[in-house]
Amino acid sequence: MQVSIANPLLRTPLALIVDDSCPVINLTYHWIRQRQAWKARFQPNAPFNPGDGDPARLHLVPPTIPADFAVRWGEWCAEQGVKGKFSLVPFPAGVARVDQGLPGFPRDEVERWMRAYREVICPNFDITCEMLTHSHVVDLRTWQLTDEWEQYEWVDPPVAPLTEYIAASMRLVRDAGMPCEGVTSPGAFGAKKESAYARATLEAAQQVMGNPRPFYFLRVVDPPDAWPDAPIWHAEPERGVAIASIICCTHDWFGGWTGYDAGDPDRFLTEDLQGGVLAPVLARELPCVMVGHWPGFYYGGAEVGFDVLKEVKRRLDTYDPDGSKTRWMKTSAIGHYWMARQLSEVRSEPLANGGQRVAVTTRFPTGDFTLWLDQPCTQVALNGQPLRQVYSRRALAEGAFLVEGSRTAVAFDLPEGETTLTTAPAANPSAA
Ligand SMILES: [Zn+2]
Repeated sequence: MQVSIANPLLRTPLALIVDDSCPVINLTYHWIRQRQAWKARFQPNAPFNPGDGDPARLHLVPPTIPADFAVRWGEWCAEQGVKGKFSLVPFPAGVARVDQGLPGFPRDEVERWMRAYREVICPNFDITCEMLTHSHVVDLRTWQLTDEWEQYEWVDPPVAPLTEYIAASMRLVRDAGMPCEGVTSPGAFGAKKESAYARATLEAAQQVMGNPRPFYFLRVVDPPDAWPDAPIWHAEPERGVAIASIICCTHDWFGGWTGYDAGDPDRFLTEDLQGGVLAPVLARELPCVMVGHWPGFYYGGAEVGFDVLKEVKRRLDTYDPDGSKTRWMKTSAIGHYWMARQLSEVRSEPLANGGQRVAVTTRFPTGDFTLWLDQPCTQVALNGQPLRQVYSRRALAEGAFLVEGSRTAVAFDLPEGETTLTTAPAANPSAA
């Protein structure tokens, strides 16, 4: 019998990645000023580059973003079921350290922000660091800023200090009381040495968080030139150790990293659901991970990026009104699913009753693990316990099976170790 691993509950993963976020501080406000100062020193004759920020529009970028907005944004995501990843830049622009409570900023506002992270954002979003400052590289011996930039010089980072640097960043997030499930690259940090970067992140996550299965976000692909996936690096199947690369299939068409470049929901998905980058990705049932930047959701208080998000979510709901086609997931859950998908061993053997015994052996646990069996089944048992039959994709959940034509989907929580399914086929499969 053919057995294949399907998407979780036969649904296309959706996730929202939020970059450049941190408590209180608007990273963009400092980032543009520091970049302009750096250019004045080192590249005084360089032409204008919007990627360095526009000094003429700096007045549109406030120095801080209020906790009240984070709470409202996070509660909207919770109500809507939106999940993904939300950065916590731990030493934003080198201005103040989050593990020290952001000295210099109002204490009650810092506390409101940390409560927003813990109570409103964490339940639905993985927290990652986005390296230490997202601007200048920090000298870890002195904690002073160097003239190098995390997202420029360290696109091709020195390998020797990489694990220590990433571990230092994770430690700040951890010591601020947050789980740190992986890392986000500031810009293209690490892109020219991706294997070493993935290795260093995996080692840092094990050292600091005791996490053998972290993820990182570095890459964006542009369909139809390339399609999203969740590649797994440095897998050690016997030890249950690996790291996932979470790949976005959109750019920031919410409100930009600047917070003054308005996006457009049509670039994600048009009103008629036929156009935009997400349409063909959804049709192919590939992970739909979108990226936005925190200053752009706030947009200097105009909330332009937030409004774009609301409209994109409305259109995704129109595409999938009963929730049977898509599923919002934390990015760590996408990583864990793809690890289970690629690194589990699945064996099947026929039983005397015409059914099958399917054994899944793994060190990579995941929820909502879903198999297609190419046989219509009247009964499926999980480790000897009969599963419930459902009759629509909408009802498919862990602990259930669904017959569609000549095949059966089975969904269950996949723990470490061996999991066994036994099936009883329809009495006359050819008539099924
Ligand atoms: Zn960033």
